[in-house]
Amino acid sequence: VAYSEAKSPDGLNIADSSEADNKRKRVVVLGTGWAGTSFVKNLKNASYDVQVISPRNYFTFTPLLPSVTCGTVEARSIVEPIRKIVKKKSVDIRYWEAECFKIDPENKQVYCRANQETDLNGKEEFVVPYDYLVIAVGARPNTFNTPGVEENCHFLKEVEDAQKIRSTVVDCFESACLPTLSDEERKRILQFVVVGGGPTGVEFAAELHDFVSEDLVKLYPRSKDLVKITLLEATDHILNMFDKRITAFAEEKFQRDGIDLKTGAMVVNVTDKEISTKEIKTGKISSMPYGMVVWSTGIGTHPVIRDFMRRIGQANRRALATDEWLRIEGCDNIYALGDCATINQRKVMEDILAIFKKADKDNSGTLTVKEFQEVLNDICERYPQLGLYLKNKRLHNIVDLLKDSKGDVAKESIELNIEEFKTILSEVDSQMKNLPATAQVAAQQGAYLANCFNRMEECEKNPEGPLRFRGEGRHRFRPFRYKHLGQFAPLGGEQTAAQLPGDWVSIGRSSQWLWYSVYASKLVSWRTRVSVISEWIMRFIFGRDSSG
Ligand code: FAD
Ligand code: MG
Ligand code: MG
Ligand code: MG
Ligand code: MG
Repeated sequence: VAYSEAKSPDGLNIADSSEADNKRKRVVVLGTGWAGTSFVKNLKNASYDVQVISPRNYFTFTPLLPSVTCGTVEARSIVEPIRKIVKKKSVDIRYWEAECFKIDPENKQVYCRANQETDLNGKEEFVVPYDYLVIAVGARPNTFNTPGVEENCHFLKEVEDAQKIRSTVVDCFESACLPTLSDEERKRILQFVVVGGGPTGVEFAAELHDFVSEDLVKLYPRSKDLVKITLLEATDHILNMFDKRITAFAEEKFQRDGIDLKTGAMVVNVTDKEISTKEIKTGKISSMPYGMVVWSTGIGTHPVIRDFMRRIGQANRRALATDEWLRIEGCDNIYALGDCATINQRKVMEDILAIFKKADKDNSGTLTVKEFQEVLNDICERYPQLGLYLKNKRLHNIVDLLKDSKGDVAKESIELNIEEFKTILSEVDSQMKNLPATAQVAAQQGAYLANCFNRMEECEKNPEGPLRFRGEGRHRFRPFRYKHLGQFAPLGGEQTAAQLPGDWVSIGRSSQWLWYSVYASKLVSWRTRVSVISEWIMRFIFGRDSSG
């Protein structure tokens, strides 16, 4: 029977686990986005009873969302039902379409609410007990509590958002044609404002510019001189996370294209017809009328996560803090990954004594170069900032490192005491930075965690591990390491900027083709791949669709 009579103390139905025998550990996964899906896809160990919970029963390929806003690609081509993804697996995975609204770590259960329109006779809420909990609920748009944003702006986070943007753009062009309007009103309606000069805002502005100049002005010739796209950014430059050359190219291209780029402008208020900004340097407030605003200024925290953070003493943070094994500190068997989490990387300086003791195998109180060299890889694994430091300073081994900090006194025969060891490594922690909130990070974390779960039993039997520090003896897995494969910034007009590992920058048509091929190959299924590619071809031949 797939129905459980059991009730939780607060009278809610408990998700039935009679299908699974009691020996199997229950793994509950929250979210079917990049992190959650990647976890589920890579889980191969059939000894788990897996339940996936998410209010959306599909995965979204977010890098192509901006293309959906202008009909370059259809919405259905970038989503894949989660049931199709899990059906192919040998592992038994069940899915519940529901939203988790409370996490209860004391009793090891999550509270969920079904979000279908069906009448469930008061059974829409239920609790799901877990042995392991994987939190991958992502983030939500951040309005910074700016008045009027929630009510008047479009966001670009979900497929529905992209579809709504598309129909609003076309609506604006149709409205501006109506015979009753004055020129002033037409101008207002055709004023499109994008807030946020990050990769998403920039790509959307570029995509919108192409849609307008390649397709819409041909159909609405009179709107040609009235339409205007404005991009607002609070800092001094757009695409801050990219190489300066890419930022400069993008800013110039936008200027040539006639996209009005206003940097140093912070939005302070949005009404139904006007958006007000404050010039950061002068504090001057000015307002402009608009037809549509798209808000894309970064990410904030889901209420369920904020509530959970408060309960576990992590209040006042933007994201859940985990250790390098993606486990939430201070919780038992709870993992967090993707946009809802950040890794609290340990500092070399915090552990400097332990590192020294570990390296000093003969307990002599000093380190020889050989002793140091022997643990270097282990230290780099536990503290990736050291590897980064060596790479950035082009140091190839310990002798280089010693020379760099001590001048020419360094010799192979030198012995270091703890104070000297501290001095040499004192700058290393400055290389630490948080991982970006990207699909690339989320997907790698999902795959990493699944691999840990696949090997859990084996590792419990044969504990292994690199350098073990105080209190960390039970880590049997290597810590998560992010491998950056590069990043694209599509800028419209078949021009894309690419920043590849090793700070290799390429801008132009060739990177656009690289973009096409990378994203086509990364799509989740052959169905989505075939449709996206044929839609790209259709767009080249017939242009974008403007009905709506
Ligand atoms: P998500 O993918 O957002 O998934 C979260 C999941 O949790 C969803 O399934 C959601 O329905 C579910 N969920 C939400 N609340 C609950 C709840 N209460 N209970 C249960 N489930 C819940 N990154 C790149 O690397 N390259 C790009 O080109 C790129 N382009 C982007 C373009 C756009 C327009 C956007 C919005 C993002 C883009 N990103 C890109 C960023 C990338 O999409 C995110 O970093 C990534 O989605 C994070 O994965 P995640 O699994 O943490 O969250
Ligand atoms: Mg996810
Ligand atoms: Mg997603
Ligand atoms: Mg993260
Ligand atoms: Mg020694």
